[in-house]
Amino acid sequence: MARTKQEILRELKERQVRFLRLQFTDILGLNKVVELPANQFEKALDGEVVFDGSSIEGFGRTEEESDMLLRPDYQTFLVYPEDLEPTTKGPIARLICDIAYPDGKPFEGDPRQVLKRQIERVQRLGFDNLYVGSEVEFFLFVRGPEGQPLPQTPDRAGYFDLAPTDKGEEARRAMVDILHRMGLPIEAAHHEGAPGQHEIDLKYTHALEAADHLTTLKFVAKRVAIHHGLHATFMPKPIAGVNGSGLHFHLSLFKEGENAFFEPQGRLEVWPHQLSKTALSFIAGLFEHAEGLAAITNPLVNSYKRLTPGYEAPTAVSWSVSHRSAMIRVPKRRGASTRAEFRLPDPSCNPYLALAVILAAGLDGLENRLTPPPPIERNVYDLSVRDRRKYRVSEMPGTLREALEALQKNRVIRAALGEQVYKDFLNAKRVEWGSYRIAVHQWELEQYLAEY
Ligand code: GLN
Ligand code: MG
Ligand code: MG
Ligand code: MG
Repeated sequence: MARTKQEILRELKERQVRFLRLQFTDILGLNKVVELPANQFEKALDGEVVFDGSSIEGFGRTEEESDMLLRPDYQTFLVYPEDLEPTTKGPIARLICDIAYPDGKPFEGDPRQVLKRQIERVQRLGFDNLYVGSEVEFFLFVRGPEGQPLPQTPDRAGYFDLAPTDKGEEARRAMVDILHRMGLPIEAAHHEGAPGQHEIDLKYTHALEAADHLTTLKFVAKRVAIHHGLHATFMPKPIAGVNGSGLHFHLSLFKEGENAFFEPQGRLEVWPHQLSKTALSFIAGLFEHAEGLAAITNPLVNSYKRLTPGYEAPTAVSWSVSHRSAMIRVPKRRGASTRAEFRLPDPSCNPYLALAVILAAGLDGLENRLTPPPPIERNVYDLSVRDRRKYRVSEMPGTLREALEALQKNRVIRAALGEQVYKDFLNAKRVEWGSYRIAVHQWELEQYLAEY
C-alpha cells in the first residue's frame, strides 16, 4: 500500500482515480467528506485543502475562524473497490484527515486529535499502544418505495419469506467482502440475536487504526445496504423487546511487543486469573469513570434503552470472567490474547472520542494504582439491592440526562476531551435531550389518551 506522497500520487495516476475523498468525523461521529477532482490531488496531499468548519455540526465554530485545513494521514490511503460506488465512472480513493487551523496548528476540536493525545500519553508511560478489537452490531431494515427506511427487518418482513436466502445475509456478506478488499482485518461476521440484526468483528489493532476502521465500516455498511435495497442502522435500540446493538471493545495494552495485561506467573483458575496489575488497574479505571464516560460511549437518548436488564447489555458497573450481563468481561484466552472486553459502548458513538475516554479512564486507574472489586460470576440483572452493595455494584446512568450530569462531574473525562470538544459535545447533547423531553411520544398517547 502506498505510504509517501510520491507513492500515493503514482498510484492515483496508475489506477486512473477520478476522485479523492478527504474524510473526517464531526463530534457526533458522523462521516464528513470533501471530494476533489484529479487537478486537486497534489494540493490535497500537501494538506492545503480548506473547508468551512462553521458548516459542520458539533464544531461550534465562530464566523471569523471558520477556515480549517484538512491534513491527510497517508497511512489511511486506499482506493475503493469499484463495486462500492458502482454508479461513479472510474475509481475513487480516500484519505482520512486531521483538522488544523490555517497556520497549521492542530485543531483541538478534532476528535481524531483527541484520541491521538491519549495515545501519546499511553506511550509516555512506556507502553507501545492500546490495542483494540471491535465487535460491531447493527440492524438491517427494509426500504419503502421512496427509499425511506421502514421499521421492518428483511428476515421477518413477510413477503421475503419465500426468498431462497435472507436479503440481510446477502448484504452482510457483500459488506465483508468489500471491507476485506479494502484491507480491513475482518475476523468474523454473523447474524445476531434479534431479527435483522448482524455483527462484524474486526481483529485487534492499535487504537487510532481501530477508530479509522470503524468509521470505514459504518460508511461501507450503509452504502452496501443501499445497493441491496436495505438500510443499515447503528442506532442502539431500534426495536423494543429484543436485543439492541452494542460495540464491544476488546482492550489490551502492549509493552515492548508483549501483552502487558497477562501475568504468566499467576494461575488461571485462581483470582486474579493471570491478570497483571496493569490489567487490574486499567479495569479499575474503567470502573471509576464508567458513569462519566457513558455520555461519550453511549451518546443518544436511545442508547439508554439498550442498557436495560435482559438484553445482554450491561446495566451496572460490574465485571465478570464469564457473564455477559457485566460491563466488562475477561475472555478465557491468555498469553498475547489476554484482554478486557468493554461491553458498554454502542455503535452510535464517535469511535475516536470513545477510545480516547476509555484510554483516559484506564490510564487514570494505572496512575493511581486503583484495584477493582472482585469479579461477579452471577447474572447482575438478578442481584438484590443488598448484594449490589456487597459487591460494590453501582447503576449505569438510566438516561442521557443522567449521563450528561455524570460527565459534568468527571474531571478526568473532561480533561481528556479538552475544553473545546467538551463544551461543543455538551451543548449539542443538551439540545438533543431538551427536544426529546418536550416531545409527546407514541407511548404516552397509548397510555394516556383514552384513559384520562
Ligand atoms: N447485543 C448485545 C449488546 O447490546 C450483545 C450481544 C452479544 O454479543 N452477546 O451489547
Ligand atoms: Mg460477538
Ligand atoms: Mg454480539
Ligand atoms: Mg462481545
